[in-house]
Amino acid sequence: MTNKIIIIGGGHAGGMTAIYLRQNNYSGEILIISNEGYLPYQRPALSKGFLTNEVKEERLYLKNTDYFKRNNINFLLKTNVKKIDRLKKIVIIDDEKSISYDKLVLATGSEMIHINSSSSKILYLRTLDESKKLREFLSNYNSLAIIGAGYIGLEVASAASKKSLDVNIFEMGSRLMERSSSEIISDFFLTLHKKNGVTFNLNTAVNDVSDIDNGILIHSSKKKESISDFLVVGIGVTPNTKLAQECGLDCNNGIKVDKFGCTSDKNIFATGDCTNHPNSIFNINIRLESVQNAVEQSKIVANNICGISKSYENVPWFWSDQYDAKLKIAGIKEGYDYQIQLGSVKKSSFSIISLKEDKVICIESVNRSSDFTLAKKLIASQKVMPKKILVNSKKLLKEIMVNT
Ligand code: FAD
Repeated sequence: MTNKIIIIGGGHAGGMTAIYLRQNNYSGEILIISNEGYLPYQRPALSKGFLTNEVKEERLYLKNTDYFKRNNINFLLKTNVKKIDRLKKIVIIDDEKSISYDKLVLATGSEMIHINSSSSKILYLRTLDESKKLREFLSNYNSLAIIGAGYIGLEVASAASKKSLDVNIFEMGSRLMERSSSEIISDFFLTLHKKNGVTFNLNTAVNDVSDIDNGILIHSSKKKESISDFLVVGIGVTPNTKLAQECGLDCNNGIKVDKFGCTSDKNIFATGDCTNHPNSIFNINIRLESVQNAVEQSKIVANNICGISKSYENVPWFWSDQYDAKLKIAGIKEGYDYQIQLGSVKKSSFSIISLKEDKVICIESVNRSSDFTLAKKLIASQKVMPKKILVNSKKLLKEIMVNT
């Protein structure tokens, strides 16, 4: 009988695990230990509407204080878990106090990769506090440089240019969002950002940054120097596996879990960004940084803790908002045989569908939600596609699929 569950990390996955446990009528103690000072909140708006004041802070929270009180979900905020002792089934927190558990859930997320400088004009964006700070900078300064043309960098660029700042992006790769997007998507967003006044330095590594009186001086591999009022760094994240590694749990690019969210210790589960988990559709182990994964995996973990045997079998998906373009990506395109394009790039409404052995494995859609929804189902079903969808078309995917 499980009487006490400790969840380490009060982010999206930690919060959702507690919510799903109560929805499953789990009646034992739940304690969330979080090193942040807030109740669980959603991060996506931190680089989007929250920066432009379109989304207010209240809307970020998964649930309000009242909900957590009513459901007897307890918190230790601003508290770091320093160690897990698996033999004694205790966690040790900041003041060396130990707290015992029956089941432990690791929802420690990931952390931003930092560059080697302590300048106060260099900003990162992972937490609500960091987003508040960036929002203030966007209101008080005229120019910023960004290292990294990934999702965070580009969403910040979009918010900054909406607020009329000069934006200068440095990217080591040859195109935008290279890790996850097809070339057509990268080109579309490059054109869109340029139309909005953003400057790009592609194939350019930043070698050094120095704090100067009137801003921050950037030395790049193209041997140019440029000055901006401040700098935002968005060069990726690493999974928070330190606690898991130190207590001897299996880790490899994330905390290794099985399809039930269980780690190599049967009393310890893990969920969200920090996990490396099996994906049954693609038959691989992956680590994802997405809300969908945090939510769905937490549901599986809560189910299995409550004795409801369910396995994690979801199509990975993700979205990004930049200006008026909504990019949605589902599936994994690596190893595709061919791609088809639906819609019109010129009209900012199109989808790129990747197929392998005539099965849909990935969709990247811009402002075409109905293509996205249908393609996601096709990825899950792994159905062999009829010949008529194997052509580029102006039609929506659902029109092409009629009567197949
Ligand atoms: P997190 O939300 O990072 O929570 C982990 C928590 O654990 C953190 O609060 C951390 O401080 C805490 N913690 C870690 N170690 C300890 C410890 N030892 N003791 C106590 N506490 C600890 N995803 C999308 O799908 N779409 C988007 O558009 C999107 N936009 C994003 C924009 C931004 C700016 C960011 C930062 C992320 C975005 N993501 C997006 C990713 C998404 O937010 C994450 O995938 C999601 O938050 C993962 O949830 P998590 O609970 O696993 O990790």
